Amino acid sequence: MEEEIFIKNYINGELVKPQSNMFLDVYEPAIGKIYAKIPRSDKSDVDKAVSAAIEAYPSWSATSVTYRSEILLTISRLIEDRLELLAKAESRDNGKPVWLAKSVDIPRAASNFRFFATSILHFSSESHEMTGEALNYTLRQPIGVVGAISPWNLPLYLFTWKIAPALAVGNTVIAKPSEITPYTAYLLSEICIEAGLPKGVLNIVHGLGTEVGEAITLHREIKAISFTGGTKTGEIIARNAAPLFKKLSLEMGGKNPVIIFDDCNFDEMIETTVRSSFSNQGEICLCGSRIYIHNTIYEKFKKQFIEKISKLVVGDPIDDNTNLGAIVSREHYDKILSYIDLAKKEGGTILYGGNSINVSGRCNDGWFIQPTVIEGLDNSCRTNQEEIFGPVVTITPFEYDDQVLQMANSTGYGLASILWTNNLQRTTYFSQKLNSGIVWVNCWMLRDLRTPFGGMKNSGVGREGGFEALRFFTEPKNICIKY
Ligand code: NDP
Repeated sequence: MEEEIFIKNYINGELVKPQSNMFLDVYEPAIGKIYAKIPRSDKSDVDKAVSAAIEAYPSWSATSVTYRSEILLTISRLIEDRLELLAKAESRDNGKPVWLAKSVDIPRAASNFRFFATSILHFSSESHEMTGEALNYTLRQPIGVVGAISPWNLPLYLFTWKIAPALAVGNTVIAKPSEITPYTAYLLSEICIEAGLPKGVLNIVHGLGTEVGEAITLHREIKAISFTGGTKTGEIIARNAAPLFKKLSLEMGGKNPVIIFDDCNFDEMIETTVRSSFSNQGEICLCGSRIYIHNTIYEKFKKQFIEKISKLVVGDPIDDNTNLGAIVSREHYDKILSYIDLAKKEGGTILYGGNSINVSGRCNDGWFIQPTVIEGLDNSCRTNQEEIFGPVVTITPFEYDDQVLQMANSTGYGLASILWTNNLQRTTYFSQKLNSGIVWVNCWMLRDLRTPFGGMKNSGVGREGGFEALRFFTEPKNICIKY
């Protein structure tokens, strides 16, 4: 029997137990069993982390950009060196296939550090001259101690997406990974120690959202919070942070439309739509979950889509031929299945899937769900309006451009839209009219880290990525010098 893993907090450069000495269980979703313990930290641990971050701030913020860049590059290299270990850890924690963690999650975590290590070298601020009178220039100074709170679906990928820009501009950081998937954040603390990151610059505090997350949100010395997670949690954070006037970046849920016209490249669209529906078990905020298909190709789409899906393998995440691994937790598994029941009650027809799956052998007690396709639902029903965040999509035919535009924009969310057409006018029209922060045309998840990333409506406030992130993590100050 494998030994249980004991995860520790990373505070003031050291790996430490929580002050309470209390721990929480961490499950391996593919086998449905506990495999690790994490600190059940509380406000006292957050206070300790904040004290360390306050002490580290003056010297860290005074370092040169080249120095900070070098340290972040070292962290990036160490992540790459440990690709295998980190990918296995991510898969074990989250249930995603190892090959996926190895080709997407972990390389992206390394890229996040590399990207912000180099972008800080090119970051600049503005100057505005008042001819003959004065010169204004804008200083962009680090904010101080900042907080980062991240979710379980892309654990190290999203955790580092916040930490790297915050550190690059000279802040010190208190970060909390999801309590459901804490393992790679712990391995990152070991990497930071090895990379020589000065003590107190990054502090990782494990525990519950309602305890550690709230303590971070409510702490007066933490001046900004970057959060990714559910819209309801974002609401709580916004409410808690408002009286303290904290800077907030909120990346939240999505219910992304896929709009397919009959003039698209059909084969490429089908391949990509399978990915945009079921990658990472559908547990990506950017997955397309409402698929609208032009009525002239609806039947052809349906047939070929289902043919492709029926070949997807739901299985042990450590197998190379597994397409969909386990659902992250028992609670989330129950939630997804309850949405499939709801879809049936709302009059939907399950065209494919709709059930949990028993994966025999070591995964006998794991949490697996078939890729599921539903048709025949009204656009306004809950299944089509609420985020399910699992391997479940609905398909709906449409006839007219403005009809599908209205359906696509009809939810409270506005994260991403995916458009399939080769018509230039349609492309520009829909790109302007779709209410989402990201529009992918004839592609999905094609990411340039320099671009603004985030959503509108209930999907987000603010943008991450590129200089947007560096601007978020700095305070602009205007200096006006009279000639
Ligand atoms: P949650 O909102 O449940 O949790 C996100 C993080 O917030 C976790 O670390 C959680 O801790 C913490 N948290 C929970 N309650 C509080 C609180 N009261 N105060 C402060 N922090 C708190 O999201 P999930 O982890 O379930 O992630 C899935 C959600 O994330 C989906 O809605 C998805 O769409 C969204 N998401 C959005 C992305 C985007 O870029 N827009 C990208 C990826 C996911 P704990 O886990 O311990 O409860």
